[in-house]
Amino acid sequence: MSDFSLPDEVLKAARKGLSYELYRALLLNYGKRGEKAFFYLKERRVKKYKDFFVVVGTNEYVVEGNFCTCMDFQFNLKARSPCAHIIAVRLARIMKLYDYYDIYYTDFMSSRS
Ligand SMILES: [Zn+2]
Repeated sequence: MSDFSLPDEVLKAARKGLSYELYRALLLNYGKRGEKAFFYLKERRVKKYKDFFVVVGTNEYVVEGNFCTCMDFQFNLKARSPCAHIIAVRLARIMKLYDYYDIYYTDFMSSRS
C-alpha cells in the first residue's frame, strides 16, 4: 500500500505558503483533485479534532492517515491514490493551515444528531 507521500515539487512549493507555485504544482501532479485541495486550504476547510482530521466540503469527510471517507477515494480511486481531502490534510499539517478543536469529532457528531 502506498503512503501517498507528496511529490518534492509540491512540498517545496508548500514552504512558500499558499502561492501560485503551490497551486500549479498541485494542478500538475493531481489535476482537479489538486485544485480542490488548494481551495480547501485557501478557504481553511481543514479542521483538526482530538481524534481525526476533517475536511468540510459538500459533506464533512474524515481523513485518517491514508484513508478518507469520501466516495471519490473509495470508489473512483479505489484507495490507490490520494483524494483532494487527503492531499489537503497532508498540506494543512505541514503548513499549519487548520483550525483545531479540543474535542473528539465522534462526540461532536453524536451531539448534533
Ligand atoms: Zn476524500
